[in-house]
Amino acid sequence: MASDMNRGSQAEQEVVDLVCRLIQFDTSNTGDPATTKGERACAEWVAEQLQDAGYETTLVDSGAPGRSNVFARLPGADRSRGALMIHGHLDVVPAEPADWSVHPFAGAIEDGYVWGRGAVDMKDMVGMTIALARQFKRDGIVPPRDLVFAFLADEEAGGKFGSHWLVEHRPDLFDGVTEAVGEVGGYSLTVPRPDGSERRLYLLETAEKGIAWMKLTAKARAGHGSFLHEDNAVTYLAEAVARLGRHRFPLVLTESVEQFLAAVAEETGLDFDPASPDLEGTIAKLGSIGRIIGATLRDTANPTMLRAGYKANVIPQSAEAVVDCRVLPGRQASFEREVDELIGPHVEREWVTNLDSYETTFDGDLVDAMNAALLSEDPGARTVPYMLPGGTDAKAFAKLGIRCFGFAPLKLPPDLDFAALFHGVDERVPVDALRFGTRVLDHFLRNC
Ligand SMILES: [Zn+2]
Repeated sequence: MASDMNRGSQAEQEVVDLVCRLIQFDTSNTGDPATTKGERACAEWVAEQLQDAGYETTLVDSGAPGRSNVFARLPGADRSRGALMIHGHLDVVPAEPADWSVHPFAGAIEDGYVWGRGAVDMKDMVGMTIALARQFKRDGIVPPRDLVFAFLADEEAGGKFGSHWLVEHRPDLFDGVTEAVGEVGGYSLTVPRPDGSERRLYLLETAEKGIAWMKLTAKARAGHGSFLHEDNAVTYLAEAVARLGRHRFPLVLTESVEQFLAAVAEETGLDFDPASPDLEGTIAKLGSIGRIIGATLRDTANPTMLRAGYKANVIPQSAEAVVDCRVLPGRQASFEREVDELIGPHVEREWVTNLDSYETTFDGDLVDAMNAALLSEDPGARTVPYMLPGGTDAKAFAKLGIRCFGFAPLKLPPDLDFAALFHGVDERVPVDALRFGTRVLDHFLRNC
């Protein structure tokens, strides 16, 4: 394997080491600013890697000390064109070392994989971006348009102390940026074809569901638990939560989902007709990716937290629940009407977090460039658009009118349960996939 290490571009040679080093910074985002540490140290290190290659970097804290972000620009040939931003977040979700096969912050390489928290979400892409930024600068490569490299804090808690703060308070950092690429897209999904062969699809993210975390509160009369008591806040709340949790919102196929299903139907011969009575069952046949795609057909409302009462024989005055709602593009108003009918008159709702959905079209020069870059490294493959049921920093950038895509290219083994690695135990990324992704991004950034 040693000779293999020496092949390829400088970026390809250093990408694996960069990803390992990034994982060694414990940037766990607990969701509580008081206990979230490590972003500053990691951001300073990222800035050093860029400065080493000759960049001027801007390090900005977003809303609280230590919530650090790094920006750098590489001027392009045609400065009249809008800039392309390549963004990645430096924070990760926490990991419990006892549950893992290797320590989640060791950045170990074993069995052809880089292991650790952030290996796919998303220090892989951060490492590829740093490697290419360094190589472009050192080799004097001039991209077709300005490139903005952005490394961000707090994505895992929604970006309040990261992208959303920056968009609101430092829009100057995004001057001239018209398009952006980040997570979660560009990875491969291998599907079986009717003739027994296989086809690799690369999923480019063109849409995201909205994130609406809803707090429900029921208020009623307090009283003694031994008496007759019809007006009970816990009962009202429990009924509302159960109705919401069991409810199926209507099937609505947005353009991204429709195009994804049409392409997969064409490749696999499976019937993804929206009128088919068991569309969800057919989607489940796609394996673990089915859990992602299946969640993009409808709005969802999953109850996640409950709080009420303080003693067994006291009926409390109020009861609270939190429901994690994910809303399709164009559905917010209808979704809210439906929710209000379900929760009934005794329960009030408020948004704890409400971030808009996002959708762009699967066409244009940038899509062509992503497609060409992937096919240059994997000629028999096909790119397809898809919607992420979750959210990324793209939601913040879309507020500035930036057109966003999920494009962090990885060629994955057909049997790898990629979806399970996100926030999962034993998160890891194939070493080969990192080198592949670096070559694809190299091609893309030279032709964007
Ligand atoms: Zn992420």
